[in-house]
Amino acid sequence: MPEGDTVWNTARVLERALTGDVLTGSDFRVPALATTDLAGWTVTESASRGKHLLLRLTHADEAMTLHSHLRMDGAWRAYAPGERWTGRPAHLIRVVLKSKRSAAVGYHLHELSLVPTAEEDTLVGHLGPDLLGADWDPAEAVRRIAAKPDVSIAAALLDQRNLAGVGNLYKAETLFLRGLWPWTPVADVPDLTATVTLAQKLVASNRGRWTQTTTGSLRRGQTSYVYGRRAQPCRRCGAAVQKAEQDERVTYWCPHCQPKP
Ligand SMILES: [Zn+2]
Repeated sequence: MPEGDTVWNTARVLERALTGDVLTGSDFRVPALATTDLAGWTVTESASRGKHLLLRLTHADEAMTLHSHLRMDGAWRAYAPGERWTGRPAHLIRVVLKSKRSAAVGYHLHELSLVPTAEEDTLVGHLGPDLLGADWDPAEAVRRIAAKPDVSIAAALLDQRNLAGVGNLYKAETLFLRGLWPWTPVADVPDLTATVTLAQKLVASNRGRWTQTTTGSLRRGQTSYVYGRRAQPCRRCGAAVQKAEQDERVTYWCPHCQPKP
């Protein structure tokens, strides 16, 4: 599940593949950018902001940012020249960026757009503090969450305007570890600071690898407490993990460890 850590890792893939390179060609396979040609542009920086990817490029005195979002199923892969592009089926390719040493291929990307770097805020300015940003600010995240006291804590954690980078996996796992029933209104959460701090720790701990774990185990089937474990025994108390729809997403929780207040 692409959440803040996956997006951060993807930004590093693009950084290693392209930063410092002059692009020798580009191939956009989305209608809005079909005529765009980035040949001659230099890739200066690859950054992530929450779940958004920002690839910054310059050409003479112009600076542009290529924005993409992975949502549930997008991915970027980098290949050496001549290497086969084996990441995904070719019909899912949305863009290819080539330099002398790499080809970066974007599969099933969403919100692909090219904007002047000075206008990045039109794409990411609404986001709350970035869990993996140098400017991560738990107090600001808490302030934003607390401003809507009637919203469930699960929805508040997923709202990227509050804090940027938590998806469904880290939401469910954070709530389990804090003993919070997912439908608990923000106003009734005893310690919001501890909640956002834990979410940040979980996401940050998975930087640099593709397997996401919240339990500390990287073994298949043992990487989460409740996420993806419907009807399986809670790792702490043995009760059957529950799954339900919540605001058009699914959530998982242990009815014993996360009791309804
Ligand atoms: Zn339990």
